[in-house]
Amino acid sequence: MPDVIVVGAGPTGLLLAGDLAEAGISVTILERRDGRISNLSRAFGVHARTLEQLDARGLADALVSTGATLGELRLFDRVTVDLGRLPSRFPYLLITPQYNVENLLLERALAAGVEIVHDAEVVDVRQDAAEVTVTTDGKTYRAAYVVGADGFHSAVRRAVGQPFPGKSVLKSIMLADVKVTEPPAEMLTVNGVGDAFAFVAPFGDGYYRVFAWDRRRAVADDEPLTLEEVREVTERALGTDFGMHDPRWLSRFHSDERQVPDYRVGRVFLAGDAAHAHSPAGGQGMNTGLQDAANLSWKLAAVLHGAPDGLLDTYQTERHPVGRSVLRSSGAIIRGAMLKSPIGRAVRGFAVRRALAVPRIFTRVTGQISGVGYTYPAPRGAHALVGTRAPDVALADGGRLYEALRGGHFVLIGDSGTGFRDDRVRVVARLKTGGPLVLVRPDGYVGWAGTETSQLDRVLSELAGTPASRGTGH
Ligand SMILES: Cc1cc2nc3c(=O)[nH]c(=O)nc-3n(C[C@H](O)[C@H](O)[C@H](O)COP(=O)(O)OP(=O)(O)OC[C@H]3O[C@@H](n4cnc5c(N)ncnc54)[C@H](O)[C@@H]3O)c2cc1C
Repeated sequence: MPDVIVVGAGPTGLLLAGDLAEAGISVTILERRDGRISNLSRAFGVHARTLEQLDARGLADALVSTGATLGELRLFDRVTVDLGRLPSRFPYLLITPQYNVENLLLERALAAGVEIVHDAEVVDVRQDAAEVTVTTDGKTYRAAYVVGADGFHSAVRRAVGQPFPGKSVLKSIMLADVKVTEPPAEMLTVNGVGDAFAFVAPFGDGYYRVFAWDRRRAVADDEPLTLEEVREVTERALGTDFGMHDPRWLSRFHSDERQVPDYRVGRVFLAGDAAHAHSPAGGQGMNTGLQDAANLSWKLAAVLHGAPDGLLDTYQTERHPVGRSVLRSSGAIIRGAMLKSPIGRAVRGFAVRRALAVPRIFTRVTGQISGVGYTYPAPRGAHALVGTRAPDVALADGGRLYEALRGGHFVLIGDSGTGFRDDRVRVVARLKTGGPLVLVRPDGYVGWAGTETSQLDRVLSELAGTPASRGTGH
């Protein structure tokens, strides 16, 4: 029996399973698709915090080499956000198809020993105090924990009785991946005029992603879409159709805003699109799912290594508020972008530009969009650093914190010392000395800070479980 079953081999499930396997946990992914890789991609934007998470797994540079970087994010017509000022090694949005992210995570998961069962559609999940039973259309599996990373229509969510409250925000959005004869001058072209809205961005593989929306024509998602219709709406919104031709994907979708109340139901967890859904504006969906996975994986590993069960409740207290915030921010962008009246659009542009000129608001907005601005609640009396994102500080040995995090362990940063304290904790010395000892969690957030090393054993048993039962992972 594996320790953990992950349902769904999308980006969320693959990152989570790879982390667990690297931490010495046996994990099986059940995936309803067959093993073929598709070249159709839903997401195409990878934000700074996700790149930092991938950096902590040694994958960021390989991913960056597959795409193009965008230093400015255009929200609507003349409103842009300068990502170049982000306090990150990755001060941009990386434009690369979702399948590049999935392929990297898949390779890593398989190399770490994850078993992936294809053609395995989960139809039921039941649990008792000791284990969870997962039923596919042909077989039954058991595990200590199950993670439903099975997307928007999650069967796991249904099986554990979680509602998915919310509403559809926009219907009948057109998606077209096309080639163009007259490429746009800018990386990201977006505008809304009257009844028409369009967005065009390059994938980097010769194709362009077009989203178009026509207020006058709301039809069902399964109504066939022609390139002609996309062309016509794009031309109205942007003044040109860029000579679109050779579509490899044409479809309609609707955009929902929904979130489950509980990310944890006993031994079952929900992550990624199974837990939250929102508009594609701001490119947040895959990014948020990957952050969910990075938050949950080390906690599951720690509890399976002896940490108290209550650690798993912090998945809800840390990630549910972030999901809610993403729903709000992506909803605000899409509503702003779709404003109909010219006066409303002018006021919107003016108000947002004015707001972004205020440094505090700018930092908040870019922090939310890129993911680098989120912090987690800290226990009462904890050091002010606890729960904050650990920046990628330079280390005395010439390396960086996010390199030291590779292998899935905690990193203890101080003014001296190097090596492993035990198999849970790597000790490093910072280049710029001074300040407290800082214990960085495997997901790059501060788990503890202080000067009393006598507290460390207690903190580690609460956050990481007992040593020795796992590999060093380095
Ligand atoms: C048009 C569009 C554009 C987008 N653009 C962006 C963007 O730029 N940036 C961004 O961050 N996000 C974007 N998103 C959102 C992003 O694609 C999703 O948030 C992301 O794919 C979610 O990943 P996931 O792993 O949680 O779920 P999914 O990718 O949906 O993966 C779920 C997996 O579970 C499997 N599965 C489902 N049911 C079962 C079952 N019963 N049994 C077994 N397996 C099952 C599925 O086959 C699938 O492989 C976009 C979405 C759309 C629709």
